[in-house]
Amino acid sequence: MAVVLGYFVKSIQNYIDGRFTPGKTEFADVNPADGTTIAQVAEADAQQVDEAVYAARQAQHGEWGCLSVRERAARLHRVADAIEKRFACFVQAEVADTGKPVSLASRLDVPRAAANFRVFADLVKMAGLESFQTETADGAQALNYAVRKPLGVVGVITPWNLPLLLLTWKVAPALACGNTVVVKPSEETPATATLLAEAIEEAEIPGGVYNVVHGFGPGSAGEFLSQHPDVNAITFTGESRTGAAIMKSVAPTVKPISFELGGKNAAIVFADCNFDETVKGLSDAVFLNTGQVCLCSERLYVERKIFDSFVDALKVQAESLHAGWPGDEKTDLGPLISAQHREKVLSYYKLAHEEGATVVTGGGIPTFGDARDRGFYVQPTIYTGLSESARCVKEEIFGPVCHIAPFDSEEEAVAKANDTRYGLAASIWTSNLKRGHRVAQQMNVGITWVNCWFLRDLRTPFGGVGLSGIGREGGIHSLNFYSELNNICIRL
Ligand code: NAD
Repeated sequence: MAVVLGYFVKSIQNYIDGRFTPGKTEFADVNPADGTTIAQVAEADAQQVDEAVYAARQAQHGEWGCLSVRERAARLHRVADAIEKRFACFVQAEVADTGKPVSLASRLDVPRAAANFRVFADLVKMAGLESFQTETADGAQALNYAVRKPLGVVGVITPWNLPLLLLTWKVAPALACGNTVVVKPSEETPATATLLAEAIEEAEIPGGVYNVVHGFGPGSAGEFLSQHPDVNAITFTGESRTGAAIMKSVAPTVKPISFELGGKNAAIVFADCNFDETVKGLSDAVFLNTGQVCLCSERLYVERKIFDSFVDALKVQAESLHAGWPGDEKTDLGPLISAQHREKVLSYYKLAHEEGATVVTGGGIPTFGDARDRGFYVQPTIYTGLSESARCVKEEIFGPVCHIAPFDSEEEAVAKANDTRYGLAASIWTSNLKRGHRVAQQMNVGITWVNCWFLRDLRTPFGGVGLSGIGREGGIHSLNFYSELNNICIRL
């Protein structure tokens, strides 16, 4: 692919119809740890997006569309093998693009990418469909059964926070169902989607099945893809307001959409929780990936009896996190993704002051005395004392920050947790399992954890309520989104 320097991709190209292709314009891929440019990225124009969609259409009608489910599944396992073979290369590219700690990319992002291909390869072979023996009122007999067919060409638009993990979460089931894809990774993190093309080639998946177009959203590759009349469905992960813009651009061509959007997730901590495990669990839930996970908890509600001791303990935990170079195994906290995103997070740190927050810890920018001072780091931050109507409590910040508020009753905690237009995830921390079940079932979200966070089984439904998304992916839900079901009725 293009020019590869050691593990490092210096020139990142589009990948159309099985070929790496330059663009007419380029943009810079910036390392968030020190602000240096690590690669030039080819921007796809409208004509190249057209070519990618055309190639995907041809490939869907060609060999790929005719393969047996068994053979498709075998090739997807080979993609997983090829990712594992290039493990270090994927880790290094993901770390350079995102600034996330190497320990995180090695234990989460890259293994999950391989797992996504394996899980959906196995699942598509096992997935059955319903059938009915039908008897009508006038005595006619029939057999109804459904068959699964591909949608055709799927447009995949993804964000920067877990670039490879979230891309493969959509590409794997789309391919498993016999579709072809045109993917538009985030402009901030173009590398691993491009590296994946090498794994796809090695797995002998024909040219045109997996295409990558680089660029931005409005007036660029993202919008060209979402409004393209020959794309049969759009699957998108990103901000809620981007989802709203994409909804508008897909409307004239009426196509299925699956949206995984933002969150303002709550955690409810009861006094009977296992205190140490809860502090550790919520430290991860607030600060993992520098708070840039859609599932992160930005609102913590803690029973008043343990409020002060919990705030003190989370402060200790936050201050023990090591902000370092992403490539250092000891680093817990990397930078934010970009200068622009840091401006956004810092604007909320300023707003928190204006809204009357008490700063428990953080609230600023760390200094290192080296090149990291040109990177996009912020301090892990905890606030208390804000009203529930404060913008910092209502709006997604997407940084290493939370607000902690006390509660006195279960009803109050549930009402506060649900008082949001988002509805992605929640976590409940209690040793009373009966209460755990009871409260979990009242959460107005797509996923609730009890005494854990981010523990995922890829077969389970995943998605959001309200501003957090439309539809569910995961397991059979992904297979159903990426398929057309054709019901066949046979008169007996
Ligand atoms: P974003 O919405 O800014 O961008 C996501 C992708 O959409 C990028 O590839 C971007 O180029 C593209 N895009 C932007 N405008 C577009 C347009 N008008 N038409 C077509 N494409 C367009 O999101 P981001 O900043 O990359 O990611 C962070 C957001 O993603 C947060 O809100 C986070 O909560 C959310 N997220 C949600 C989930 C989930 O599973 N629910 C997972 C990860 C991230």
